[in-house]
Amino acid sequence: MTALRRELGLACDADGCITWADQAAEALLGASIGARLSTYAAPGQEARVAELVREGRHARVDDFDVVLLVNGAAKRLMFSAQPTLDGIVLVGSVATEALAGALDLADRAQDEITSLSIDNDRQQRELLHRGEELLRLNRELDDSARGVIALHSEVQEQADSLRRITEVKSRVVANVSHEFRTPLNAIIGLSKLLLNGTDGPLTAEQQKQVGFILRSCESLVELVNDLLDLSKIEAGKVGLRPETFTAPSLFAALRGMFKPLQNSDQVSLAFVAGADVGELNTDEGKISQILKNLITNALKFTERGSVTVSASAGPNGSVTFSVTDTGIGIPIEDQERIFEEFAQVDNPLQRKVKGTGLGLSLSRRLAEILGGTLTVTSAPGAGSTFTLIVPRVHPEVEEMAHLAERSAALEPGKPPILVVEDDRQTLFLYERYLRNSGFQIIPARTIEEAREAMARVRPAAIVLDIMLEGEASWSLLSDLKATADTRDIPIMVVTVTNREQKARALGADEFVIKPLDQQWLTRKLAALARRRGPINTILVIDDDEVARYMVAKLLAETDYEVIEAATGADGVRLARERQPQAIFLDFVLPGMNAFDVLDELKLDASTRHIPVIIHTSRNLADDERQRLAVDAATILPKQNLNREVALGRIREVLAKTGFAAVERGESPRV
Ligand code: ADP
Repeated sequence: MTALRRELGLACDADGCITWADQAAEALLGASIGARLSTYAAPGQEARVAELVREGRHARVDDFDVVLLVNGAAKRLMFSAQPTLDGIVLVGSVATEALAGALDLADRAQDEITSLSIDNDRQQRELLHRGEELLRLNRELDDSARGVIALHSEVQEQADSLRRITEVKSRVVANVSHEFRTPLNAIIGLSKLLLNGTDGPLTAEQQKQVGFILRSCESLVELVNDLLDLSKIEAGKVGLRPETFTAPSLFAALRGMFKPLQNSDQVSLAFVAGADVGELNTDEGKISQILKNLITNALKFTERGSVTVSASAGPNGSVTFSVTDTGIGIPIEDQERIFEEFAQVDNPLQRKVKGTGLGLSLSRRLAEILGGTLTVTSAPGAGSTFTLIVPRVHPEVEEMAHLAERSAALEPGKPPILVVEDDRQTLFLYERYLRNSGFQIIPARTIEEAREAMARVRPAAIVLDIMLEGEASWSLLSDLKATADTRDIPIMVVTVTNREQKARALGADEFVIKPLDQQWLTRKLAALARRRGPINTILVIDDDEVARYMVAKLLAETDYEVIEAATGADGVRLARERQPQAIFLDFVLPGMNAFDVLDELKLDASTRHIPVIIHTSRNLADDERQRLAVDAATILPKQNLNREVALGRIREVLAKTGFAAVERGESPRV
């Protein structure tokens, strides 16, 4: 390391211009009088030189480093300066290499630190910025969430109000349409009378005029009918009437319907039913209504050529019906629009034919009710094909079958609830409500089905919908409540209007107006089902304790409560007191025998009707059998006693005496 130390002397005026320079200054810097000291600064060091001059003007400065160009190269010099009268005097020395290196290093470190801190600052600013951005995003998200919630409730409100408006509209349309029909039918009837000339002949002109009135009225009736159908669909009042039928039978009916209407021999109408279609189980009336609409349209918009109606097996157990014509066709831009209400395509034929513009929208709605679709493909000038695809078996029919299957076998531990309700949808709703609440639903869609179900199952409670067959459901209620055997089964009556008084008067245990609330329903049913104690009492008269135990055990998990008597006398007394539904009587009893017991029972009006099952392990003699037959007693050998047989016999005797509802089927399914 060379410690080369060279010094130079300079004087400057107040502006930093050199007024004197020693030899060393001249040699090293090339300093000349009059030049500014800053001229000799290394690039970027001018401000530092100016600072040295400024500070030195005021007070003494030591060890002020500054980089100047020494022999053309940037060199660090350490200056001392002190003020003179009109400027400063400076003494500088070129720093040793080591010092210069150290200072350079320090400088670089300083630079690095500065740039690092700049970086750091930048990063911090960036972080801050990001943080702010995040906050802003968060606020925006919050706002959006609040917006979505507000929007959601707004949509909900609008949906509610739309629903209300739709309901009102449907009601108004339904009422107005009904009101329209009466005078329209009167006008049609009267026009026909006039045309028939019942009250004297009309002139040709009058005939023409009345003919116009008649036709106008008929198209108005058509419109009213379509409107009514639509409003019924909108109000959800269109019920499904599924039945089994085949495509050929449906086509035969349609062919017959259209034969008289076909007045052009330019257009042929053909029906083709594929052999693969098989039997359908869905609403035939609705399919027929859709096809009628499509065929009417096809005939209307086809001036010559053919209309072909076909049925074929579709994918996934569906059936495809199609109506193809060679008519005017429908431009692509109108092919979706025509399914909207009142939409018609502007074409020359349109003005000639009648129409309401409701047929296709009605048909599409009906297709949806059938669980299917209605679409069109068409080319203007070439013709159109309308395609109806429906499930071969309506989904609800399948659901119903599952429901019936589920209810055919009683599930242990699940109190059965008989739900008498004609509307499938509502039945499904009950099933969904009750399935998860530990009940088993036994569905009945007619009063007849309800009575059938009652014959094989004793429900823990009954839900009875009064809309169902009107009066018939009221009488089911009063029948059940008037019959000793069923009186105690709690019945919940469900109506759409307030009929509580009537329901209670006929013995309903609970009354509710639709719509039903799931929690309320299950809570009430649970309470009702619990309230009902065992009410079917069976009396067992047998001196053998084991035999009595066996019967009691067999009937333990059924609706029957077993009471026991060890002697004939006790049995007769218990029969009077407890009025059992049936008596199991041992044939051989000590003291009083079976015939004595039977006589005693027959003598008393309160026990005369109680059916008796002779329970014996003995082979009875013919005369004994004959005598028992007189007393209408049933014989049940003790050897083949099991639950099925016991329950079967009990039901048999109850049915015989009219105690229970009619027994159907041989083997009980309880
Ligand atoms: P309407 O036939 O009573 O006017 P629709 O809803 O049944 O009402 O049909 C709507 C419109 O769709 C018809 O007015 C007609 O313009 C067009 N359209 C329907 N079927 C056909 C068809 N087969 N060929 C041509 N156009 C049709």
